[in-house]
Amino acid sequence: MIEILDVCKAYESGNRALRDINITIEDGEFVFIMGRSGSGKTTLLRLLIKEEEPSSGEIIVNGMELHRMRRRQVPRYRRNFGIVFQDFRLLKDRNVFENVAFAQRVVGASSRAIRESVPEMLKLVGLSSKYKSLPQHLSGGEQQRVAIARALVNQPEILLADEPTGNLDHQNAVEIMDLLWDINQMGTTVVVVTHSQEIVEQMGGRVITLDRGRMVSDEIR
Ligand code: ADP
Ligand code: MG
Repeated sequence: MIEILDVCKAYESGNRALRDINITIEDGEFVFIMGRSGSGKTTLLRLLIKEEEPSSGEIIVNGMELHRMRRRQVPRYRRNFGIVFQDFRLLKDRNVFENVAFAQRVVGASSRAIRESVPEMLKLVGLSSKYKSLPQHLSGGEQQRVAIARALVNQPEILLADEPTGNLDHQNAVEIMDLLWDINQMGTTVVVVTHSQEIVEQMGGRVITLDRGRMVSDEIR
């Protein structure tokens, strides 16, 4: 469970990115965070993975109070999350298999574990046949699938996606959203940041809307 309690975030520049945010997300939920550019969506995700600290308020994830966590505990804490970005962030000089395997190598997985899980993940995202391809030879939609496979290969409890369809055409955007939905159905909590009204209308579900740092609604559509 994610609990965000009375959280405010002001950056050193004086930018007040978030104000009095209260959100609870249960295990297994699928949640959209909506809002225009600059409304604080990315800041909220960065607070969750402890890349930034709230100026006030607190965040509790699975009972862990983030402000009490020691610096050396943060890498392990972050393994609760898989993260997907708008710009995919793949390693350009590594093929699809290695891009996914990389996430496992970082956490010290055995080569045997890697040989087992990478093909499994590529199958899940529908890219089994492209495991040898370099990112530059894939479409945007395919690159995002690789990024999703990489985000999930260490079996995180929570998947955070920051504008995952922002660089995709409509058809690919719909397919990526369907994939995220399937992943949620398999038990992963999914939090998707988007400014696309269209995507949200199409998918429905819980939608939290931010406007200039404030939460203006939290509703089921
Ligand atoms: P969104 O993801 O909804 O576009 P952000 O969370 O990126 O919004 O930004 C919210 C506000 O905080 C904006 O006014 C932005 O300029 C500001 N901001 C974001 N990151 C930083 C930073 N590292 N330093 C200073 N201001 C920031
Ligand atoms: Mg953003």
